[in-house]
Amino acid sequence: MQIDTLAIGFSVSGQLEPGDVERVSELGFKTLINNRPDDEAADQPTSDELKVLAESAGIDYHHLPIEAGPQPIPVATVNQFDAIMADAKKPVLAFCRTGNRSTKLWERRSDISTKNSSGQAGRHVQVLIIGGGAGGLATAASLRKRDSDLDIAVVEPRDTHYYQPGWTLVGAGVFRPEATLRPMQSLIPKGVSWISDAVAGFEPQRNVVRLASGAELTYECLVVAAGIKLDWDKVDGLRESLGKHGVTSNYDINFAPGTWQLVKGLKAGRAVFTQPPMPIKCAGAPQKALYLSADYWQRQGTLKDIDIDFYNAGGVLFGVPDYVPALEAYIRKYDANVHFNHNLVAVDGPGGKARFAGSDGSDVEVEFDFLHVSPPQCAPDFIRESGLANEAGWVDVDQTTLRHVRYPNVYSLGDVCSTPNAKTAAAVRKQAPVVAHNILAMLSNENTVAQYDGYGSCPLTVERGRVVLAEFGYGGKLLPSVPAWLLNGKSATRAGWLLKAHLLKPIYYDLMLKGHEWLAAPEILARSGDESTPVAGSQT
Ligand code: FAD
Repeated sequence: MQIDTLAIGFSVSGQLEPGDVERVSELGFKTLINNRPDDEAADQPTSDELKVLAESAGIDYHHLPIEAGPQPIPVATVNQFDAIMADAKKPVLAFCRTGNRSTKLWERRSDISTKNSSGQAGRHVQVLIIGGGAGGLATAASLRKRDSDLDIAVVEPRDTHYYQPGWTLVGAGVFRPEATLRPMQSLIPKGVSWISDAVAGFEPQRNVVRLASGAELTYECLVVAAGIKLDWDKVDGLRESLGKHGVTSNYDINFAPGTWQLVKGLKAGRAVFTQPPMPIKCAGAPQKALYLSADYWQRQGTLKDIDIDFYNAGGVLFGVPDYVPALEAYIRKYDANVHFNHNLVAVDGPGGKARFAGSDGSDVEVEFDFLHVSPPQCAPDFIRESGLANEAGWVDVDQTTLRHVRYPNVYSLGDVCSTPNAKTAAAVRKQAPVVAHNILAMLSNENTVAQYDGYGSCPLTVERGRVVLAEFGYGGKLLPSVPAWLLNGKSATRAGWLLKAHLLKPIYYDLMLKGHEWLAAPEILARSGDESTPVAGSQT
């Protein structure tokens, strides 16, 4: 077994034999990527065989087959590789028959990355945006709409953008997984540069951002929209069990399609759903998975043979009391048992057991046939360890202006910022115009300020065809977008489903990511000393 190291954290080798896996583990590799299709040769170990051995040695395993031959490696495969590498525990060892295809894959990924970032090293950017997710792209688009001459760059390591609000529907067989993915390049607003790299650190005193490639960028104004970290490793045994043994999660697009397969396959037994401590993105997503699964089982006539348990680390079904009665009615309808103040701490996939820590110090072990996990979540490490973070790790901003409390040329929005709103794409839709306005006011010394009211929204899919549409701002204040006669968010409506299943995706891609601020224009106040008064024409 000859191993060639191509970069820090990435090596390649020829075909691994079953006996090599232990050696690979001893050498310290944490992730294996098998680039060889099965059945190329009679004496070749199967991917399933290697996966079992890798996982029992504590190594993460991915099969990303590449056909042998001179044809270029498809961009889709490079994107998949990129996504694996973004989350992979390092060091990674990739292999094929000779190591050649794995090497070509690495080179092709580097080519694409270099092409995207060429000429960017050491560059000064007027507005530098970190993250090409919902918040980063919506802000870039809102800024360009206001000022098409602005020099804007987005730093984003992934080649694929995810429409995450669609993942609940992937887990229920309503959306195909591909419907939630788009190439990053296709969504970068015209005139905005994309720097295909990851941020490694910040020096806000010097207006410097350090990239993983080693390059540095400087900026006049910085926007941080790097999302939230899914902390799978905080639950013992979870990572090893995901995608197997009846364990799944809609929080990762690699597993959401598996949720639907498992739901369809379960005819009897115990289905367990979990919710971690707040804050998490889309606080309703853990119970949405429960309702849509239960609805399917009810329609199939199997619900009577399936016990549903919802273990919730929190003490309430939903943080805003107005929506709780409608949700409780569905909990009763599906005869689900709700266990508050129970936090998932360990999963034993092969044994079919999950362990929960009760807030009263109790320790509960539960057997399951199906387990849908919503993982613990926290600020990304590179944010938490930066000078931009508050004590809890989030980017420390004023909750109304979204401006950093210590660095006035830094803004933040989306899941990564410290504001106490519901972390949703719906919140981003209202936050991006606020950030865009306030940045331009700052750059042009204009004396106005846009205000964010804490708006967030959660379409709770209580059954296929009906949604409880929660819309609220800071302090749980209800902020419905349309009058109750059109859509009453406190009860389950068909109009809510129409919105969730058919309209929100176009609103996301065609309005929000293009800078059209329909029903999202911010309230703008004139600033005079400490006094702020509404500006004529601004939305209140
Ligand atoms: P993201 O969209 O996650 O983007 C963050 C970006 O930062 C990513 O592209 C990432 O690659 C990038 N990044 C990370 N690290 C670095 C780095 N070091 N350098 C540079 N870039 C980096 N919201 C709703 O409004 N309604 C819903 O119904 C809904 N349902 C959901 C269901 C599920 C299962 C999930 C998972 C989410 C759901 N959401 C929903 C939440 C919504 O998707 C998020 O709140 C939203 O995407 C937040 O946007 P963001 O830009 O903050 O983060």
